[in-house]
Parts: sequence; structure tokens; C-alpha cells
Amino acid sequence: MSDLVKVKHLHKEFGKNVVLKDISLSVERGEVVVIIGPSGCGKSTFLRCLNGLESIEGGVVVIDGLPVEPDKKDIYKIRQKIGMVFQSYELFPHKTVLENIILSPVKVQKRNKDDAMREALVLLDKVGLADKKDYYPRQLSGGQKQRVAIVRALIMHPEVLLFDEVTAALDPEMVHEVLQTMLDLARTGSTMVIVTHEMAFAKAVADRIVFFDQGEIVEETRNVKAFFDEPSTERARKFLKTFA
Ligand code: ADP
Ligand code: MG
Repeated sequence: MSDLVKVKHLHKEFGKNVVLKDISLSVERGEVVVIIGPSGCGKSTFLRCLNGLESIEGGVVVIDGLPVEPDKKDIYKIRQKIGMVFQSYELFPHKTVLENIILSPVKVQKRNKDDAMREALVLLDKVGLADKKDYYPRQLSGGQKQRVAIVRALIMHPEVLLFDEVTAALDPEMVHEVLQTMLDLARTGSTMVIVTHEMAFAKAVADRIVFFDQGEIVEETRNVKAFFDEPSTERARKFLKTFA
């Protein structure tokens, strides 16, 4: 069993601010790892280190056997293996849903346009948005935009999907539809690293829970139910209480 994502002794600082301390974490193919932890503990920075959006001061990040080094030529090859979805959708406002989705496969991967369009429609159908293909982002709800952003990541056929609080900016009634899309993806065997504050969702989707606090991994377990019922550390207990 090969690890798709392998992080060893990762150390990251912004100036004097040490943001990630000796983080070691591997993700197997097909595994869903959910990262939780207080605001400012380094979750987003960690995800950004995985695809070389941040320089690192120590340790190694390896994706599918390739070391991530932001300045190296390989970084483009590595980023093709990673799909990332953020809190803000970052769709191009002057392009339709379909145009937004096929942009990268056609421009970056040099795929045939008709072929990319066909796949885009299949994926849009899966997330319940086939009828919105010719809409512009401003004509969509937040939840719909976020599902388009997920399709845009999926069409690149990434080996691993990273989600950074993708429902945090959504109105409550739209959170469910996006989480459902992610649950569906998890069930089809996608490899996913998810940062979320939705604890019920975390419990439902995670193969493994990783609890970050102050730049460290404080707890990490495949016994997801036990973690939520009775975490081993006081820090996790305190954190979970804020959601009770
Ligand atoms: P989280 O996603 O868990 O809320 P972040 O990874 O965004 O945490 O931030 C972790 C720490 O790193 C915070 O102290 C934050 O202020 C700091 N930080 C994040 N990005 C930058 C940056 N580009 N420059 C300086 N400090 C940063
Ligand atoms: Mg964050």
C-alpha cells in the first residue's frame, strides 16, 4: 500500500511565527483524512504546503512519489495530481459554468474541447447542476458555485482532493448540498484531505481524524467515533466542546 501523500517532519514559519511544528502525516490512496482544529492553528497553511504554494523551512512533502519543491519544474506535474477547493469559489465571472469547468482541461491538459465538454456535463449532472451549464456565476447560489468549483477540480482527474472549509462562507441551507457532494465523492473512493468545522460531517466522512492545535498534530486516529465520543487529550475535548 503506497502512500499518496507523505509528509515528514514538516516545519513552517512566517518570520518568527512558527506555524507548523514537526508535522508527519501520510494519506493512503482512497483514504479520507479530516483535519480539524481551532482557527489559526495552521490547517490552511498545511494544505498549501501540500501543493507547494508555501515554501517550507524543514521536512519533506512527497506527492505520489514526487517531492514537492515550489521552485522546481516538477511542481506543475505535482499540481496536476492535486485538486484544491477553497472557501471562496474563484470562478471566472465573465465565463459560463461550462466554460469555467473546461478551461483548465483544454488549456493546461490540451484536451479536446468536445471531449472536455462531454465530461463536464456528466460531472455537472452528478452534482445536480446539468441545467445550469450556461449560467454565469452571478446567477448561481453560493452552494451551486461551490459545487461547480468541485466539478472544476474533478475534471482534472486529480489523485488527491484538498478541501479547505468549503462550506464556511455558505448560508446554512446550502451547506448540506455541498457536504452531500463531498460524501458522494468519498464513497466512490476518492482520496481526500478535508479541513472542516462541520463536526457531524467530519464524523460521517472521515476514515481518519487529525486534530491540529497551535501548529501541532495533537491527536490522530482511525477510531473516529471514539474521538468524538471521548477524545484522548484535554485540548481536543475543549475544542469539541465549543461545538456542543
Ligand atoms: P487555519 O487555517 O488553521 O485557521 P492558517 O494556516 O490560516 O490557520 O494560519 C496559521 C497561522 O499562520 C496564523 O497565525 C496566521 O496568522 C499565519 N499566517 C497564515 N498565512 C500567513 C502569511 N501568508 N503570512 C504570514 N502569516 C501567515
Ligand atoms: Mg484556514
